[in-house]
Amino acid sequence: MTLLKKIVPKLFNSESAMITCLKCGKKPAGASFALCAECLREYPDIDKIIQLHRSARVKFDLPPIPPKSPEGIPCTLCANNCRLALGQKGYCGLRENYQGKLLTKMPDGSALLHMYQNPLPTNCCAAWFCKGSMEQGSNLAVFMYGCNFDCLFCQNSSHKYLEEAPVVPEEELVQKALDPRVRCVCFFGGSPEPQFPFVVRAAERIHRESGGEIIS
Ligand code: SF4
Ligand code: SF4
Ligand code: SF4
Ligand SMILES: [Zn+2]
Repeated sequence: MTLLKKIVPKLFNSESAMITCLKCGKKPAGASFALCAECLREYPDIDKIIQLHRSARVKFDLPPIPPKSPEGIPCTLCANNCRLALGQKGYCGLRENYQGKLLTKMPDGSALLHMYQNPLPTNCCAAWFCKGSMEQGSNLAVFMYGCNFDCLFCQNSSHKYLEEAPVVPEEELVQKALDPRVRCVCFFGGSPEPQFPFVVRAAERIHRESGGEIIS
């Protein structure tokens, strides 16, 4: 089953079936807002948008807002600065206060990611100035699961399927990056931030072991 087929029933369930816009009575609208895109832009209901965002996160077992328990364990990996009470998960879903210790979902030296090669130049937004885009060969695209943001129109919501994420050891990523076709490695997602220590270690190794040839 493709990832899209798995995602569609969760994101487009009966609650979000298409109806006709309640404002203009003409255009199709999602049932959650009951307004078409144009009417929604003209009459934005910010409180409702925030409330729908939060309830969408709960469907994925993610906290609706960054937890801030005063007595909780602080996580300082990103600007959310979550404080996790016993049993509580961080906003990204990747860190948890388990029996009084801050644990991550990833085993030591591994990360939740999916990687593939793309021919250069890629469609990366930095291609116009990054010297990797001048190279001939491939980019190793590394999709990091989990995200510490909650953008209104998330373009990569599959990062929320943490339970289905491949667990990849650092060594496997480094060896894939050292493939002679690979000229650069790009970490995206989701967001690399909640798995930042892994990303930095792997990028440093790739740079060193390629003799500085591979950009990451
Ligand atoms: S990395 Fe995750 S748990 Fe840590 S502060 Fe950021 S969102 Fe919270
Ligand atoms: S390193 Fe990243 S930004 Fe630079 S060319 Fe490669 S994919 Fe694009
Ligand atoms: S994956 Fe990208 S678009 Fe989606 S919430 Fe995270 S940062 Fe925003
Ligand atoms: Zn309308």
